[in-house]
Amino acid sequence: MSDILYKFESQFREKRILWRVFELAPLRYSLARGRIFRWFGINIPFSLVGGEGDIDLLMALRDLPVRNFANIYETLELKTTLISRDGRAISLKRSASKAKQLIGQLKKYREWGSPSVSLLEIYVCQHGFFEHHQSLPREVLAAMDDKLASVAEREFGYFVVVLQHNQNAERSGDLSDYFGLRALITGGNPPTPMIQRLAPPATEPRAPFTVLTTLLEKFVEQQIEAGRTKLGSCIVTLCTRCRKLIVLDHRNDYRCGQCGDALVMQTT
Ligand SMILES: [Zn+2]
Repeated sequence: MSDILYKFESQFREKRILWRVFELAPLRYSLARGRIFRWFGINIPFSLVGGEGDIDLLMALRDLPVRNFANIYETLELKTTLISRDGRAISLKRSASKAKQLIGQLKKYREWGSPSVSLLEIYVCQHGFFEHHQSLPREVLAAMDDKLASVAEREFGYFVVVLQHNQNAERSGDLSDYFGLRALITGGNPPTPMIQRLAPPATEPRAPFTVLTTLLEKFVEQQIEAGRTKLGSCIVTLCTRCRKLIVLDHRNDYRCGQCGDALVMQTT
């Protein structure tokens, strides 16, 4: 476990992985499933509207104009797992969590009034893994089947992405590949980075979720007017240092525009 990625505190790794998802257009498009993506929220705290906890990932989408102009919101709980070169799986952040706790978090999002809730699992394989293995370890695939059955039964969505750490890209410090994570594209037509896709059924959003999205929409609008971002590439997150909502455009170095803090190193 000598790779740089493996030395990071788990939270930093998880954040790096999440930023990476938004840098990789095929991943963003796959998650949006044919809809127009407007903006994304990462680690959005429910304390903004008086609640507790936060949303790992919030997608603000819009259906194709010919169908409907209404905004669509999807909430995703992120679970990241590292797969070592010798095939050992190490869960990040919620290492002790079992499927039950994950389901509990998904239920919480639904209780908060989120209309579409999914689990997004990201597997990050150690540098060189796929040069030694044909596929993910059998027990990982079996666990994936179990989770799929469990979320499907409760009408949640399920998405799985596999990334491989590219040590050389990380070392080179090239900004375009700064996080050194490459998505493994599966076969199929068109080829997709998603190896599992189960879309959640859409229901009507309710408060307090709707209060939160109204607040975020206003914030995004103000930021667009101020020329700080534009729809389609906007990421909304909270700087934990200045306790303020901020917008990020990808390809910047992920620093807070207000206080200059390196967001990727912040813990929540
Ligand atoms: Zn800040």
